[in-house]
Amino acid sequence: MTTTKGIRLLTREAKEAREERDLAPCAMRSRRSRGRRHAEEPDPLRTGFEKDRDRIVHSTAFRRMEYKTQVFVNHEGDYYRTRLTHTLEVVQVARSAASALGLNEPLVEAIALAHDLGHPPFGHKGEETLDALMREHGGFRHNRQVLRIVDLLEKRHPAYDGLNLDYEVRESLLKGERKTAPEAAEFEPFPQFLLEEQVVDAADEIAYTNHDVDDGLKAGIFAEEELDALAIWRRARARVEAPGISGRLRAKRTVRALIGILINDLIEHSAGRIAEAGFDSPEAARRAPSPTIGHSPEIRAELAPLRAFLHRNFYHHYRVNRMMAKAREMLERLFRAYVGNPGTLPPEFQAWTEREGLHRGVCDYVAGMTDRFAADEYRRLFDPLERA
Ligand code: MG
Repeated sequence: MTTTKGIRLLTREAKEAREERDLAPCAMRSRRSRGRRHAEEPDPLRTGFEKDRDRIVHSTAFRRMEYKTQVFVNHEGDYYRTRLTHTLEVVQVARSAASALGLNEPLVEAIALAHDLGHPPFGHKGEETLDALMREHGGFRHNRQVLRIVDLLEKRHPAYDGLNLDYEVRESLLKGERKTAPEAAEFEPFPQFLLEEQVVDAADEIAYTNHDVDDGLKAGIFAEEELDALAIWRRARARVEAPGISGRLRAKRTVRALIGILINDLIEHSAGRIAEAGFDSPEAARRAPSPTIGHSPEIRAELAPLRAFLHRNFYHHYRVNRMMAKAREMLERLFRAYVGNPGTLPPEFQAWTEREGLHRGVCDYVAGMTDRFAADEYRRLFDPLERA
């Protein structure tokens, strides 16, 4: 602790000492990070993972999530989740779980804030479309694209590309691609991720399950009575039943009860597993035969039918399918137009395709677009009466 003009500052060193003292033995400590690709002076006040978190929030890709699809295409309505609000919900759930479990909260926050940065416009349909267009050129996966964004596409330093994030954040962002992607070769292979990554992964599922129920109800895609068939919904509803409660309010309160049930179950079950395994280091948790963070068997058994319900009734609803068909059409035509005539790309991306190859460069450009920009660009390129 140092004192400046009578104000006690919690310095980086004091925070690092606090991490050593207070975090669980299996938590990652910022002082033990494997560091950054380009060496830099440590910050006097912030830990390394706090710096990572701040850089992600100030990145261009982060701001663009405001206009990117979660399930509903961005212009369909102002009430529904976007990538950005989804991300903030994941951060909230992940921090709640991490702080309760004694894990590294700034690391969890950094991973959660960045976990969806690699999504192209129009969500999973956008990803599928770009992957098909890139089939002969290395494919496209959002969990690999996020690494291109934080390592290459963001510019903040004259001497190197990217945000220069810590090893642990970068590795965690690869997620499921870690076992197969060529860029995974630089990371030491372990059977499991850091517990901080596992928390974000579980928080992602809790957040989207819960908010997709909420958005689906609000959009009238399905009705509350349909959810009544599901045990987990009845479990949540039982907590909010009150005399005279109206249907819409009960549904809203049930959605909130549901997220509470899922977060508490995740924390309690994971705490039990950590205690049982007795991990004495982050590496010990990484060598475990299976992931440690997760739901209890009872909740897992009740969650699966809800996920199946959403797949059947929401993600493949005809209104969602229509939005997605339009999205695929737009991305395909844009991609082919740029590849066929790279002179239509902005000059900095013409230079980028020379450096990265035509298809990969175009893919980076298209993947970085927001839904709104892609739709405007589609009009600019294909509507003869629109200004170019
Ligand atoms: Mg997500």
